[in-house]
Amino acid sequence: MLAQIENLVKLQAVELERTRLATALRTLPAEVAQAEAALGAAQSQSAKASDALSREESLRTRLDREIATHRQKIARFRIQLDSVKTPDQAAAIEHEIRFAEAEAERLENEDFASLERSEAQEAALAAARAQVESLAVTLENTRVRIALRLKEAARELAALNAEREALRPLIESDVLTRFDRLCGSRGSGLARAENQQCTGCRMGVRPQTWNQLREGELLTCDSCFRLLYWDPAMAPAPTPSDAKPKPKRKIAKPESED
Ligand SMILES: [Zn+2]
Repeated sequence: MLAQIENLVKLQAVELERTRLATALRTLPAEVAQAEAALGAAQSQSAKASDALSREESLRTRLDREIATHRQKIARFRIQLDSVKTPDQAAAIEHEIRFAEAEAERLENEDFASLERSEAQEAALAAARAQVESLAVTLENTRVRIALRLKEAARELAALNAEREALRPLIESDVLTRFDRLCGSRGSGLARAENQQCTGCRMGVRPQTWNQLREGELLTCDSCFRLLYWDPAMAPAPTPSDAKPKPKRKIAKPESED
C-alpha cells in the first residue's frame, strides 16, 4: 500500500505540474499580441505625424504660389503706374497695389506659422519613428523569448508525460479511476491528512480514520472524497518512545483547493 501511495503522490505532483505548465502557456500568446498592439499603435501614430507634415508642406507650396502671384501682380501694377493718364487711374492702381501687398503679407505670415508648425511636427515624427523602432525590437525579442519558452515547455511536458505513463500502471486501476475523476472535478485527486485534517478541504477526519491512515491505509475524505493518506515524513518529530525509524522520502505538496 505504501508504494501505491508514493506513486499516487508522485502522479499528483506530475498532474499539478502539467496543469501549471498548461496555464502558464495560455498566457504566452497574449504577450505577443500585446507587443504587436503596442507596435501597431506606434506605427499609426507615426503615420499620422507623417501625414500632418505632408499636409503642412502642401499648404506652404500653395501659399508660396499665391504669394508669387501677388508679387507678380504688384510688379505689373507698378509698370502700369508709369503710363497712367489720370490721377483717378493712378489712385485705382495704387489701391490695387496696396490690396495685393496686404494680401501677400497676410499669406507670408501664414507661411511662417506653417513653418513653425512643421518644426513641431518633424520633432513629433522623429519621436514616433524612434518609438516604432524600439517597439519593433521589443516585439522581435518577445517572439524569440516565447518561441524558446514554448520549446522548453514542450520538453518539460514530454518529460512529465513520460513520468505519468510510467507511474499509472503501478497504481491499481480502481484507485486510478477515482483519482482521475477527482482530478477532473476538484483539480486534485489525493490529499494528505495532517493534524487529523484533510489538507484538501480542511475538514477533520474521524479518530478511527486517522488511526487507519497512520497505519498506512489509503482512505477517502468524507467531505471532499479525495483519496486520503498520511505521510510519516511530514509528521511532527517522533517522541523518544516512537523509536521505529521512518524512511524519509521526497514529498510533493498536495494542492489545497477548497
Ligand atoms: Zn477532504
